[in-house]
Order: sequence, then C-alpha cells, then structure tokens
Amino acid sequence: MQTSFTATQLMDPQIASSEKILRACVHCGFCTATCPTYVLLGDELDSPRGRIYLIKEMLEQDRPATRDVVKHLDRCLSCLACMTTCPSGVHYMHLIDYARERIEKTYKRPFIDRTLRTLLARVLVNPGLFRLAIVGGLIARPLAPVFELLGMRRMAAMLRLTPRRAPAPPFERTGKVYSPDGKRRGRVALLSGCINPVLAPSTNEAAIRLLNRFGIEVVVAAGEGCCGSLVHHMGREDEALSQARNNIDAWTRELEGEGLDAILVTVSGCGTTIKDYGFLLRNDRAYAQKAARISARARDITEFLARLDLRAAGLSVPLNIAYHAACSLQHGQNILREPKDLLSKVGFVVKDVPEGHLCCGSAGTYNILQPALAEQLRARKVANIELLKPDAIAAGNIGCITQLAAGTAIPVVHTVELLDWATGGPAPAPLAELAARGASAG
Ligand code: SF4
Ligand code: SF4
Repeated sequence: MQTSFTATQLMDPQIASSEKILRACVHCGFCTATCPTYVLLGDELDSPRGRIYLIKEMLEQDRPATRDVVKHLDRCLSCLACMTTCPSGVHYMHLIDYARERIEKTYKRPFIDRTLRTLLARVLVNPGLFRLAIVGGLIARPLAPVFELLGMRRMAAMLRLTPRRAPAPPFERTGKVYSPDGKRRGRVALLSGCINPVLAPSTNEAAIRLLNRFGIEVVVAAGEGCCGSLVHHMGREDEALSQARNNIDAWTRELEGEGLDAILVTVSGCGTTIKDYGFLLRNDRAYAQKAARISARARDITEFLARLDLRAAGLSVPLNIAYHAACSLQHGQNILREPKDLLSKVGFVVKDVPEGHLCCGSAGTYNILQPALAEQLRARKVANIELLKPDAIAAGNIGCITQLAAGTAIPVVHTVELLDWATGGPAPAPLAELAARGASAG
C-alpha cells in the first residue's frame, strides 16, 4: 500500500512503525474472510482491510479521530485472526494498538462511555475493587433484564457476565515461593495478575501443583500486578506502560536473583501482551533492554509444560473435551498444538470446535463495551461447541472461560486444571460430580 507521510511525520517512531506496517498491506482482502466482525456485519469498514484504510487516513492526515473511525475501530476485537490469515505478514496488532492510543488522545467520547471506560480501567486491575464489584454484581444480577429494557445494554451485559458464585477470598500469593517435593529441575515465575485471583484462583493453584509435581519451583514475584493488557486495549497507553514497567522490575529482580527459566502465564491475553513488552517499550531507554529480556522469557503455561514429561495418573472417566482455542493463544502467540497434545497425552479425548478461528466475543472488555456483537459471537461459538456434545470445555484464557460459562451449561475449565487432575491433582470443581460418578462406577 502506498503511503504519503511527510519526513517530519516519519521522525515520530510510532508513525514510522505504523507506516512500515501499512506499506506491507497489498489490499488482497484475504483477511476479510476470517474477521469475525466482517463475517457478522458484512461491512468493508468492519473488516481488517477497511480498518487499515481508516487508520492510514487518520495518521497521514494527522487529524483527530472522527466518530465514524472510532465506531469501526471500537468494533475490532483485536482477536488477530487477520494476522494469522494475512499472506503479507501485516502486523495488524501493532497498528490497531497505536490507533487506539491515538483515539484515546484525540477523541472525546460521550460522558457515559468515558465514565464506563475509566471505571473498568480502575476496577478490573485492582483485585480488591474487583472483588467488591463482583459482590455488587451478584446482588444486582436479577436486574439485568430491567437494564436491558431501559436500553442500558452494557450494564445488563456486565451483570450477566458476573459469575454465579461469590468471588474467591483474598489470598496474597505475591512474594511466595512454591518448591517441588523432590529434586528441583527448574525455576519459573508465574503471573498472578489481577482478574484471575478473584475469578479463578483454582487455575494458578492447579498450575503450581502441576509444576511442583514435575520438579519445577514456582515463584510469584513480589510486587507484580496487572500486566497492562486491559488498559492497553483501551488505548490508555501511559497506564499500560506503567503496569508493564512494574512487572518488568518485579521479574528482573527474580531473574537477577535466583534466576528464572521462564515467566509463565495462564491467561493467554496477558501472555500476548507480556511477549510484546519488548516492542511496547522499545523507545524507552531505561526499559527497552529489560523489557526485551522479559518478553523473551515469557511463555504460555502449555508451551512450557510441553517440554516436561507429564505422566498420566489414570483418569477414572474418559472425558470428551471440546478445546476452545483462545484468539490470544492461537492468533496472538501462534500456540495451536500444545494444549491439545497435552490433554490427549494425559487421557482426554480432545475435539476441535468448528469455526475455531472465530472469536467467542470475550476480547478483554469487548463483551462489556460491545455487548450486541459479543453476544452474537458467543451464541455462534456455543452452538458450534454444543454440536460436539462434550463433557467439558477447556480454554486457556479467563476471559473466554467467563464469556462461555455465561452462555452454556457445559462446564468450562482451564486446560491446566484438567492436566493437573489427570496427573494426580483434584478434579476441577465444575467436574467434581462427574469425577465422583466415574470413581464409583470404576
Ligand atoms: S483483529 Fe479480529 S476483529 Fe479486528 S480486524 Fe482483525 S480479525 Fe477483525
Ligand atoms: S490479508 Fe494482509 S495484505 Fe491482504 S488486505 Fe488483509 S492485511 Fe492487507
């Protein structure tokens, strides 16, 4: 694609990077076929190619984002299916990330939108506040249809997404070291993060048990917190970078102290962002090198487990598992085989979900900010999963787990919980009944 940036514009490193990406696009349109919003809406401006044009125009003309540009870019899930499909290697992720930052800086959103975004940015990254919000959501959940009738769709969506059980009680893992019983074969840091300890502490509990069982010492680095992903996808770059720097410092202390073989992440949305710290902080003299070093160590937990020799303890029931590939894992990190191979290896029957490349509609805060599209995508995903008649759904991202669980009665669990169970750990809570039935039949 031809571009017409001025020499002065190109002196800005963000514009220079974006220009390189824009030039790689050859307008072929292959990406439109796999873009969930284009599939649903059929509008070129809601396709990757259309959005690339909108971004190009906004940047070249160096003008504030318009309402129309914001509408179409807000509808993008950042699912990155377009990147997997693109034959020319267009790095759409970096382009849309920068466009979101520009929108945040140049466009004044309506008051309600602004307030909601600020609230999400404050509450979701703070486990204490998030816990309170979940309790409030649990109480107000029955009012979701009323909010819907009043036209407050985002409020209704938030309430519907609230899990039906109380949040986990606070339990501080940061600064703790979990040592294996036998010989230590490695040492890793595990991201505790912000949402996971409140919504699904069982995921990291399973990860720690599993890693310890196979000789890996686990540290949850003192001082770590949210990876920055949630605010990054809302274009709040300063907040995102400050959260990234905080985690880089926390992990660097461990790296330079007792050492780390890897930094493991059980939320694939966070993993994609941490692997991108090197790029995000490339122009920060104090952090560029440290950030690149942290990104190079970051691994999804299944990537790391695939290197270990996991041995099955013998499941009492053979279970059919529908594997839901989170976009951030399959498109963002190119991790396709590892989770499925691991599950098969320890005794599960793994089934691929039809239209597996399409997003479930979760996408960070998308299911709150764009509820209509997110609900359509979830309905489509759930229908595809239910065709398989699985006993459970496995996924590697808390966002997808929450999104799917709100739309189906089939238990949804993290891949690592199934792996822990199959190698000697307890059955994941949503499968406890099934496991007990299997044990009594056996
Ligand atoms: S990131 Fe996803 S929603 Fe956005 S343009 Fe690409 S395929 Fe479409
Ligand atoms: S597939 Fe790649 S090169 Fe083709 S239009 Fe989409 S982004 Fe551009």
